[in-house]
Amino acid sequence: MPQLITTLGPREAGDLRMILPHEHVFVDLGPIEEANYRQAQAQDVIALMAPEIEKIKALGVTALVECTPTGVGRRADIDRAVSEATDFPVVVPTGIYREPWVPEWAQTASQAEVRDWMLAELTDQIEASGVQAAWIKLSAGDDGMTACEEKILRAAAQAGAATGAVIGSHTIRGEVALKQMAVIEAAGYTAERFIWIHTQNEPDLKLHLEAARRGAWIEYDGIGRPPHDDDYYLQRLQEALEADLGHHVLLSHDKGWYDPSKPGGGTPQPYTYLSEHFIPKMRAAGMGEETIRQLTWVNPFQAFAR
Ligand SMILES: [Zn+2]
Repeated sequence: MPQLITTLGPREAGDLRMILPHEHVFVDLGPIEEANYRQAQAQDVIALMAPEIEKIKALGVTALVECTPTGVGRRADIDRAVSEATDFPVVVPTGIYREPWVPEWAQTASQAEVRDWMLAELTDQIEASGVQAAWIKLSAGDDGMTACEEKILRAAAQAGAATGAVIGSHTIRGEVALKQMAVIEAAGYTAERFIWIHTQNEPDLKLHLEAARRGAWIEYDGIGRPPHDDDYYLQRLQEALEADLGHHVLLSHDKGWYDPSKPGGGTPQPYTYLSEHFIPKMRAAGMGEETIRQLTWVNPFQAFAR
């Protein structure tokens, strides 16, 4: 029975309804060398983010995927503290962001060492936080992977093959996403366990469906944010549904977060647009309840559960 591993323990499909597959509770986008995330206090993050979590709980959202990996200030202990304060499960990744955010140890580590680090987090816990990693988040340069990014991806493919964890990559260009899928397959895993994060940024729309046809999840995770409007996303959904690829699509906002490099953590952006605005527009565009449930309940569970 596949389980979604969360900050509050494993959950089965029947335990959950709507899941947001790409949000952030905590990210440090400040200067890397300052490492402000290390000083952040759980109480401050709870004070800022718990009200945002309470809003989506009231709208029927039952879990959220934290997409912050190592390199941009991951704090699994803080994700867990926010979860416990709100009784709301958060799904946390292992993995490493792209260059120049790759920490020094990972630049010099061998592929096997990176794989073993991921495996330890996927099977045990992240940095004594008591939180088991559910999945692997990484990234690639906009125009292609560096040698270091490709090493991290091959390590992820091996760790994924051993655990069933899905690999999600922040990848701006479709060509790069297709190349990543080939690397994953060559390393012995499957493109079906790959999420192309930020698919909406690829202007060649044919590549969206090509990646889905090859087995990957395509993720439209800028809903309710510029530069794309609701009609852009509704059209992408219609095309995917007409191509019978609706079971490969994920929808989210890429919003939220306490940023320890900003005074007071900055101003959070709510995770409510999908529930309050976009899903009603899906209905108005003729999508039935079963389709909406597939896209917002079933797909995110299937993508991240193992
Ligand atoms: Zn993100």
